[in-house]
Amino acid sequence: MDNPIKVAVAGARGRMGLEVVIAVHEAVGLELVAAIDRSQVGDDIGEIAGIGNIGVAIQTDLQSALESSKPDVVVDFTLPVSAMDNIRTALKSGVRPVVGTTGITVENENEVRELCSKTDIPCIIAPNFAIGAILLMEFAKQAAKYMPDVEIIEMHHEKKLDSPSGTALMTARKISEGRINRPIPAPQNLVEKIPGGRGAELDSTHIHSVRLPGFVASQAVIFGGPGQTLTLRHDSLDRKSFMPGVVLAVRKVMETEGLIVGLENLL
Ligand code: NAP
Repeated sequence: MDNPIKVAVAGARGRMGLEVVIAVHEAVGLELVAAIDRSQVGDDIGEIAGIGNIGVAIQTDLQSALESSKPDVVVDFTLPVSAMDNIRTALKSGVRPVVGTTGITVENENEVRELCSKTDIPCIIAPNFAIGAILLMEFAKQAAKYMPDVEIIEMHHEKKLDSPSGTALMTARKISEGRINRPIPAPQNLVEKIPGGRGAELDSTHIHSVRLPGFVASQAVIFGGPGQTLTLRHDSLDRKSFMPGVVLAVRKVMETEGLIVGLENLL
């Protein structure tokens, strides 16, 4: 049998990180070798994830964790402010990053692309690892060809820090790619009674961010045309929805080159 792919998880104690720990532990051909987070340092991550002691204690410093455990891949589900430092550290240490953390900007992506080519180490960034969300984005791109007037409503749990969501931004970019005709321009004398009333805007697509307990990650994309609307909607009801995509990316990053953004480019 081939050697297992050794995986470190940054943000291992977080909501997504704990699911990744379980998914990596259960996946054939993957081995969890390090867990990095900022609290419960020294505690076994398996105990915290509810799968029993797996002999992987939480460490706090990514660089020394990479040096001691020598992973092939580091999966990052931390914070937008932490992820870029983690990507830089991983690439400079020769470890392939698979990044699910959202809030990575286009400028950040450009920096990572350059660093990948300098270090000759690949990286995968995916703002959404759920196959249903990827399909929704592709369908939205197709629909935008015929129905250019569209708005996005994204709905997430109340603890999500960044808005609009990475998925909503990527969906808006896909809509821009798919449009042949420009949307109907907004009236000149538009009155926004409270700033932000019309939501955020990316290339004439308005994006509205809902933050409420009860949601994991949902998105509705509403197209409007004369006498009709079309709504595409995806709901991640459980964080397990992201895990097949994460495991796929860990396997793929072993054979890709440069920076790949978006799970759709791995399918
Ligand atoms: P979370 O529960 O807050 O978990 C983040 C964890 O990372 C926390 O334990 C945090 O520690 C830790 N952390 C932050 N900076 C760190 C650093 N420099 N080194 C080590 N650990 C660090 O957040 P979450 O709900 O899991 O979400 C994490 C990210 O994934 C967010 O950006 C979210 O939008 C994104 N996400 C992506 C997908 C996808 O499919 N791509 C799906 C869902 C969520 P503290 O508690 O001390 O801050």
